[in-house]
Order: sequence, then structure tokens, then C-alpha cells
Amino acid sequence: MQSPVRDYLTEVLDSLDAERGGAVADYIPDLAEANPDLFAIAVTTVDGRTYCVGDDEVEFSIQSISKPLAYAAALADRGFDTVLEKVGVEPSGEAFNELSLESGTCRPRNPMINAGAITTHGLLVDDDADVESRVERARSFFSTLAGRELTVDQALHKSEMDSADRNLAIAHMLRNYGIVDDAPHDIVDGYIQQCSIMVTAKDLAVIGACFANGGVHPVTGERVMSRRIARQVMSVMAGCGMYDGAGEWLTTVGIPAKSGVAGGLLGTLPGQCGIAVFSPRLDEHGNSTRGVLTFRRLSTDMNMHMVDAE
Ligand code: GLU
Repeated sequence: MQSPVRDYLTEVLDSLDAERGGAVADYIPDLAEANPDLFAIAVTTVDGRTYCVGDDEVEFSIQSISKPLAYAAALADRGFDTVLEKVGVEPSGEAFNELSLESGTCRPRNPMINAGAITTHGLLVDDDADVESRVERARSFFSTLAGRELTVDQALHKSEMDSADRNLAIAHMLRNYGIVDDAPHDIVDGYIQQCSIMVTAKDLAVIGACFANGGVHPVTGERVMSRRIARQVMSVMAGCGMYDGAGEWLTTVGIPAKSGVAGGLLGTLPGQCGIAVFSPRLDEHGNSTRGVLTFRRLSTDMNMHMVDAE
């Protein structure tokens, strides 16, 4: 169906279609096979209207965009005090897979880098949870947010596990400092299954709108998380969501966001909308090249910087 918003998004999509900068992630064998030319933009408003253009039905793995969602689930399952004791909220300015911890507390600096995300995954459900129940908690919570049943791509999970040395090293470091108790292989296995949950750009826009709407699902009207959790997650995304490109992102785009190495990019503008882009070529920070350009356009054209938005 035609609409001015859809026409505008089509114009943005067409204007960036020729952009070929960056490269698909190749450190996970299955991701190296991705079609680099796919491109989708989706927006869901807090009153539940979704506008999608391009390859919006194509599924891709959620990857690091799972991190803020699992953080929301862990806050709901374990409470703020327990989660904050294990994972900080300070931007690290480092690459996503850096082997580093906060000095003094030995916590990972934030839940958006892998050390923090692996710890957060290990907090899902309760102390007795096993790999299967944590993955199911992530899958079912992400499904509730998306409004449809999502699945884990087990072939992708296996492909990433076969080359997970760096994440295993991070999990060993976390156990050495008493941040996690689980066997490093188990916690990384669960975390990578969480990263292998398949979504579309449309799913991500709806998920973003759940946060933007203060924790109430924009389509079903169901409360899917507390307002406090939605605020906490959006705040952490604003400060730490774009890895070592976070400061530039905050000044130029100003929309709390999280990127993933499969080329997804989810943004959430408080009180307004969820925004998602999917395009697999990544820039030097590991963020989708066209995704970043799309968000810059939207932020400028529609006055979406959170400091300006009314
Ligand atoms: N599964 C990926 C990893 O942990 C996620 C990274 C990302 O999307 O940035 O290496």
C-alpha cells in the first residue's frame, strides 16, 4: 500500500542502493556467504504502524542485536542489582570482541561488548538454568517482542562455534575472575545460539518500537517489559550500542541503536518509533555501511536526533 512514509523510505533506499562500501563479515564462515546487495528499511511507530521497503522479508541472524534484548530479559529475570553487580554500563570505546574488564570490579564494562553479553546470557532465567533453557528464554522473549515465533539457525550456530576461539577466550577470562560460573564452552554455546536467532528488518522495527513505547508492545498493547527496563536498555544502547563508533553515532545520528555483524541495525527513538535497516556490508567499526548512512539520512530529514526530537 502506498503512503508518504513508504514513498520517502523508498526514495532513501533507492538513493543508497549504489553504495558498495565495506565488506560482509567473514570471520563466521556462513556469514561470508551472505548476499551483500540485500537492503531493507523498516519503521514501526509506537501506535503500531509498520512501513517496510526493500528486502524486508529476508531473514538474517540477529547477532549482536540480541545483546540489548537479552539484557532486558536478564534484568527482568534477576533484577537490576544482580545484573549491575556483574556487568557495568560504561562505554568501552573498544572493539566488540576485546578481551578486557573494568579495573577494580573486574566486571565487563557494558552488556553490548561480547564479554558483557556472554555474562548477560549466563544470567538468563536463574542460577540453575542450563544452555537449553537460557536459549529458549532468549528465543521466546525475542519472539514476544517481534510478535511472531522466531527460530535458531542451528547450521549457523555450528559454523560460528567452529571458529569461536575468541569468545571462548573471553569466557575463560570471565570465569577466571569469578564473573561467570559456567563451563566456558556451555556459556559460549548458548550465547552463539542466541546470536543465531533469525529475524527480518520488519521484526527489528517492531522490537525497537517495544522499547520506544516504554515497554508496551505497539501492536498487541501487551506490557512486554517494565518502563524502567526499557529506559535502562535504551540508555545503554545510546552510550555503547555502536562499538568504537558510539560517540560519533551519538553526535551525528542521536538515536539509541545496536548493530550486528550480519548487517542488521536496530534503532529506537523514545516515544516515537523503532527503526531497522538490513544491509550486510560492514564498515571498519563492524556496523552496516548502508545502515549507518540510512540512519544519518532519517535523523537529518526527520529531525530524529533524540536531543531535537519532540
Ligand atoms: N556472534 C557474534 C560474536 O559474538 C556477534 C558479534 C556482532 O554481531 O557484533 O562474535
